[in-house]
Amino acid sequence: MLDIKIQKTESPKRIPQKGEPLGFGHIFTDHMFIMNYTEGKGWHDPRIVPFGDITLSPAAMVLHYGQEMFEGLKAYRGDNGDVYLFRPDMNAKRANNSNDRLCIPHIPEEDFVQAVKAVVDVDRAWVPYEEGTSLYIRPFVISTDPHLGVAPSKTYMFIIILSPSGAYYESGLAPVGIWIEDEYVRAVRGGMGFAKTGGNYAASLAAQVKAHDSGYSQALWLDGVERKYIEEVGSMNIMFKINGKVVTPMLNGSILPGITRDSIIHLCREWGYEVEERRISVDELVAAAHSGELEEVFGTGTAAVVSPVGKLRYKDDVIDIGGGKIGELTQKLYDELTGIQWGKKPDPYGWRVTV
Ligand SMILES: *Cc1c(COP(=O)(O)O)cnc(C)c1O
Repeated sequence: MLDIKIQKTESPKRIPQKGEPLGFGHIFTDHMFIMNYTEGKGWHDPRIVPFGDITLSPAAMVLHYGQEMFEGLKAYRGDNGDVYLFRPDMNAKRANNSNDRLCIPHIPEEDFVQAVKAVVDVDRAWVPYEEGTSLYIRPFVISTDPHLGVAPSKTYMFIIILSPSGAYYESGLAPVGIWIEDEYVRAVRGGMGFAKTGGNYAASLAAQVKAHDSGYSQALWLDGVERKYIEEVGSMNIMFKINGKVVTPMLNGSILPGITRDSIIHLCREWGYEVEERRISVDELVAAAHSGELEEVFGTGTAAVVSPVGKLRYKDDVIDIGGGKIGELTQKLYDELTGIQWGKKPDPYGWRVTV
């Protein structure tokens, strides 16, 4: 158990009211959680303080070599006013997998979850009430040694900030277009693709700009060695329904193991679908699309939950999927998962955690 000191703000901000647009990731609540790490001493001084700027040496290692990791989850407002998290223990586990890869010290899982709950509790009035809205939670660790040598830092900060965010789909689920990227790659086996870390996103920007400029909402990555096998999309895992089966790339070390992905595989199996986690080549996908066997395509991630894909572009091939409509399974998964997250449906798997 962490002994978290709480210092409340003396100048609380105005909380956005119903009807005010929230967008994503630019409004922050009144407080944040901070804990420091010092070699020899371990994690210390867990505290909740007013949200504000932090000071770092311009030589802080994170600014030069990117030794950092982050997580992303949400707090949801139930109809009865309760506040829920979704599987936060999975974020805590994944954080330590990322930490291992980046030579960042472990954060005990129960401390991670306790810190998330504590800061959400302090700012619980900021969890918005409108349909589809949520409080986005961003835990992250940065390396802070003021030292330009390349080595693991000996000091770190673990910080959690909170941002009320609007409904991902302002006007209901809508299919998006995806650009299959055949020039840039995001990650390779042995690299850090499975870790949630800023460097992977830095590597992704050029392809994202390219996809946007071509009128597509996100880039889909192929494997970094042969540029042949499907990996994932921007900040989502990807799933296909082919001939009645659900197929998704297996976790091979270069793909981020999404908690939404894991939950959806679980639901599909519960519902009697055969789920294959395996390598899937872009050629197989294109062939399935042309033969009419590719029934549904959707991305999965905390932000969108489920994002139907209506169009895929690969080189000169533009593939329409589902005639602009949302697939039946895609919709059902969206309804089930959001129902569990917002407390509108029973939670037989114990995924919902009350704050
Ligand atoms: C966070 C993330 C995902 C989705 O993970 P969830 O736990 O489902 O939100 C997928 N891909 C990448 C690259 C990510 O960073």
